[in-house]
Amino acid sequence: MRGWLAKGIFAAALSLAVGLFAVAAATPEPHKGLQIYFVDVEGGQATLFVTPEGKSLLIDTGWPGNNGRDADRIAGAAKDAGIKKIDFVMITHYHDDHVGGAPQLAAKIPVGTFIDHGENRETSDASASRVFAAYQELLSSGKYKHIVAKPGEVLPITGMQVRVVTADGQVIERALPGGGKENTNCANAATPAVDVTENPRSLGTLITFGKLRILDLGDLTADKELELMCPMNKIGVVDIYIASHHGFFQSGSAVLVHAIAPRVAIMDNGAKKGGSPAAWDVIKKSAGLEDLWQLHYSEEGGDAHNVAASFLANLQGPDAGNYLKVTAATDGSFAVVNSRTGEIKKYAAR
Ligand SMILES: [Zn+2]
Repeated sequence: MRGWLAKGIFAAALSLAVGLFAVAAATPEPHKGLQIYFVDVEGGQATLFVTPEGKSLLIDTGWPGNNGRDADRIAGAAKDAGIKKIDFVMITHYHDDHVGGAPQLAAKIPVGTFIDHGENRETSDASASRVFAAYQELLSSGKYKHIVAKPGEVLPITGMQVRVVTADGQVIERALPGGGKENTNCANAATPAVDVTENPRSLGTLITFGKLRILDLGDLTADKELELMCPMNKIGVVDIYIASHHGFFQSGSAVLVHAIAPRVAIMDNGAKKGGSPAAWDVIKKSAGLEDLWQLHYSEEGGDAHNVAASFLANLQGPDAGNYLKVTAATDGSFAVVNSRTGEIKKYAAR
């Protein structure tokens, strides 16, 4: 839990960020902008967005068990952001590394609304059935609002726009503003295997904050990436790509990544989960990529397929639970903070 104890370093880093932003342009100070915490849940997902007005969206809740480790880390991020409640918790799909932590989280911090894609479609899988049942029990308490999201709809979150692009195996029919060009990456694309798990059912969103565009597709697999991105790129380009499926090779094809051409990619991999060399290579070869950040050194990747230490929140060795944090302004400028080092890297508006 070293990351959460490094408050002094973090405070110093934040004041440095304030200084950098003030020098760069008359953009809002980072703490008045959008804050995004990439919480380390060891190869699951938990991404917390907090708007300048203090409205919040959490995408996924990490794993069950571990004495509430993931709920503790998410609550730690919420506390750091100065919020006492999570307004919206979005569940991308019903795998234990995404929805598994929901009951522990709800016991730890108040939640307003849960958003998901509807039914569990992987009823043959014992683990998916178990975590889905626990989630349904939570919803049946009557304490929460509940939204089943459909592609194309904009979720009722204020202070940023959250548009659904995929849900329950369906993709948006029409191009979004900024999208609609032919995707040249489709010509040579192999036809990926059809995935029959919950992964291709992932609830994916394009999040915009002023000029900043962030894409999160959960664990969406390459077969659905092809539907979403070919022959036309319906999304357009993005600034930040939250690497699909923790950087596993079944997701993050060139058809997607090279068309959205992110400036920065952030991979929520664990030491032993995600971070496949094939997916890592696709990101690194993407034209216009400035940096890839990883939550962990990937053992599968080895030294040839991991970023430099300054871009890693957690190095090899005992688990430290360090996080990455993005602060963003409406002009599209943003910065990434590594909680392990306290270092900040700034990306100017383009
Ligand atoms: Zn996952």
